[in-house]
Amino acid sequence: MARVIFDRVTKMFGSVVALHELEIEVHDREFLAMVGPSGCGKTTTLRLVAGLEQPTSGHIYIGNRLVDDLAPKDRDVAMVFQSYALYPHMSAYDNISHPLKLRGLPKVEIQQRVQRTAQLLGVAELLDRRPSELSGGERQRIALGRAIVRDPQVFLMDEPLSNLDMKLRVRTRAELIRLHEQLGATTIYVTHDQQEAMTMGDRIAVLNHGVLQQMGAPTVLYNRPGNQFVAGFIGSPAMNFLTATVAPEGGRLFVESTGLFRLEVPQERVGRLDRYLGQQVIIGLRPENLFVETEIERRPPNSRFEATVDLIEPLGNETLLYLRLGADLLTVRASPEVDLSRGRRTGIIADTAKLHFFDIQTQRAINY
Ligand code: ATP
Repeated sequence: MARVIFDRVTKMFGSVVALHELEIEVHDREFLAMVGPSGCGKTTTLRLVAGLEQPTSGHIYIGNRLVDDLAPKDRDVAMVFQSYALYPHMSAYDNISHPLKLRGLPKVEIQQRVQRTAQLLGVAELLDRRPSELSGGERQRIALGRAIVRDPQVFLMDEPLSNLDMKLRVRTRAELIRLHEQLGATTIYVTHDQQEAMTMGDRIAVLNHGVLQQMGAPTVLYNRPGNQFVAGFIGSPAMNFLTATVAPEGGRLFVESTGLFRLEVPQERVGRLDRYLGQQVIIGLRPENLFVETEIERRPPNSRFEATVDLIEPLGNETLLYLRLGADLLTVRASPEVDLSRGRRTGIIADTAKLHFFDIQTQRAINY
């Protein structure tokens, strides 16, 4: 197995900067989930590791080898795509064994490896079938089998579950995690679904416009997002952002917007915020850190404000409230029993211990 290193990798397509000075080290045996919006450079990153694209500048290492001049077939990586690209005229067995046949392995060894892989993936009974005789999830597993059977140093997965329906997707996610635990292969897994990244990745790398925004464990990205983009991208429904002025009073610090809210910043959250006295900052509050006042007993000091119910979205296990606060719309996660109707004004309690602060100019987190 092997680590994968991007050493200041830039990739241009004509004048389009697909990746800008990417610095990433994927640890040996790690499962790295790479997320970001459409066009941010995720697929390009994988194609560079596979050798299907060349960096415009910078270097890529797999294990301890510089692979810049290595042909794709010599890199010992396997890529699984969103479209499974199985050969339709071949059986599942022939599809899985294909890469081994190309390598000229002895027939007995091919048979053993295909059987072992098929058992691992729970498709041993399906090996005689053609792709058209398999379900979407089964086809996806055959495509995975074709990658696993080669026993590569690195797996590259490009949205491999996005063709599956929600239920199958969640199940296959769990299977992939189990498989990774068994195989222990270094994996880079691309998805635009932050929830998938949160549940699967040992660490997550967030890209935007070809620039790495932050890389870390899921809980680190969730609890200590390094900038406003990461804060808004990780977590669903997304974090609420409001513009506020930092105001001191009697040794305490408040973030406020005249006529709308005035929240006391708990001492332990102040950090470097006291450098912004009298200035505007962006505050962030996740929907799960805002409460309808009738649903919460514990109230931090100076944590109440009022807003108007704009929309109610009952989801069964919870109800999402969209509240109007001046020109902003806030999302609040409430219980399914919440007793509100559209147009009503309601008191909201903010868990001020969970406030995030961002510099209005740089969008960088002020305290992390
Ligand atoms: P998606 O989630 O939509 O698949 P992505 O994050 O995988 O997007 P990439 O496919 O890596 O994004 O593309 C990154 C940028 O590079 C985009 O602006 C894209 O238009 C551009 N790009 C990618 N491949 C080429 C190419 N062969 N020629 C020109 N531009 C390209």
